[in-house]
Amino acid sequence: MTSKALSAGDRWRAAISERSASIPESSTVAIADLAARMRRDGHDVVDFSAGRAAEHSPKIVCEAAIEAMREGRTHQTEARGLPEYLAACTDKLTRVNGLDLDPAHNVIATLGCKQGLVLAALSVMDIGDEVIIEDPCFVSYAPTIKLFGGIPVAVQTDPDNRFSWSEERLEAMITDKTRAILFCSPHNPAGTVHTADDLQAIANVAIKHDLTVIADEIYEAVCWGGRRHQPIFALPGMESRTIGLMGMTKTYSMGGWRVGYAYAASNYIEAMTKAQQHLMTCASSFGQLGAAKALQADVIDSMESLWEDWESRCKYVTQEIDAQDKLSVTMPEGGFYAWVNINDTGLTSRDFCTRLLQEKQVAAVPGITFGAACDNHIRITCVRSWDEVREGVQRLKQFVAEQ
Ligand code: PMP
Repeated sequence: MTSKALSAGDRWRAAISERSASIPESSTVAIADLAARMRRDGHDVVDFSAGRAAEHSPKIVCEAAIEAMREGRTHQTEARGLPEYLAACTDKLTRVNGLDLDPAHNVIATLGCKQGLVLAALSVMDIGDEVIIEDPCFVSYAPTIKLFGGIPVAVQTDPDNRFSWSEERLEAMITDKTRAILFCSPHNPAGTVHTADDLQAIANVAIKHDLTVIADEIYEAVCWGGRRHQPIFALPGMESRTIGLMGMTKTYSMGGWRVGYAYAASNYIEAMTKAQQHLMTCASSFGQLGAAKALQADVIDSMESLWEDWESRCKYVTQEIDAQDKLSVTMPEGGFYAWVNINDTGLTSRDFCTRLLQEKQVAAVPGITFGAACDNHIRITCVRSWDEVREGVQRLKQFVAEQ
């Protein structure tokens, strides 16, 4: 590069760590950022890439946070979180999830579910330890584990069995370095909601090999077709070895707030709190108070009709897409993504998404970024507004018809 080509920000470039260099950027965040930039430049982009709904955070929740700021609740909180928020979390975990937890010992406020994962990983993993993850899985799992010195071990789920793990396949990947199994249900990107049998298979392996299970439950409220999320924490023998990760980002459209919570046995929560004291101090004070409002029974009840409408959007998107000759997709069991098989288009998932964005201004995420075996899939977020969903699906159909 000539010095002329260097921008001001590029002039000083230092060496960065191998760990940092070894991870890719987040494909979902990077594509959503690109779509936002294209929009700002005047392009009419339909963004099916980011995992966020069209709706804003509930007004009543915003008002609770604003009120908290007006009342001067603007200072750092205890590292583990505000007592009001922690009590709201455990009340909700009892009411909705049937779990009996102590707000003084079994829960911590996090800066979103991603940061809950950081704290969980730090509390169970030493340098060089292995953590089992699903293939496919959320794009940030492997990079997060690597950044904190662990080794992610991707174990393929079975596409012919609702992208779940068989106990045998899971157990075959356990070594003396394995410390934890990380999984997500409802699943991003495949839409699986784990059944009691799926969970029991994971629990059996965890108990037999004395492992921690980190359960990412961020989509717990959005299960479709009458299904219900079941926490693996509730299975016999699992309460002492499960860290549950919850968040407000997805189901309340509160991604910008950076608030979530994690629940676990007290020794995990103590370790996570120590890390929180050093790393982030605490989650935002008024954010926690807004989130406490969101977890109240009446507010959750008021969200139900929106979540039902999301189910209708997921149905519409998957039915329309599945009717195309070269695409196939099933209705997700939960979560809000369509995990579309593009095999018959003959395109790689990156080429498909690049050209879809360039030619039709529709942003979607290449399957290859979710797992090595997923280059024949793309992920589409179904919960954009009805107008965007209809327009985006029409453009996708035209794109595929032209292949
Ligand atoms: N886990 C999964 C499975 C996700 O899909 C996401 C968001 N894409 C997150 C965690 C991150 O959640 P948060 O924004 O609350 O950190």
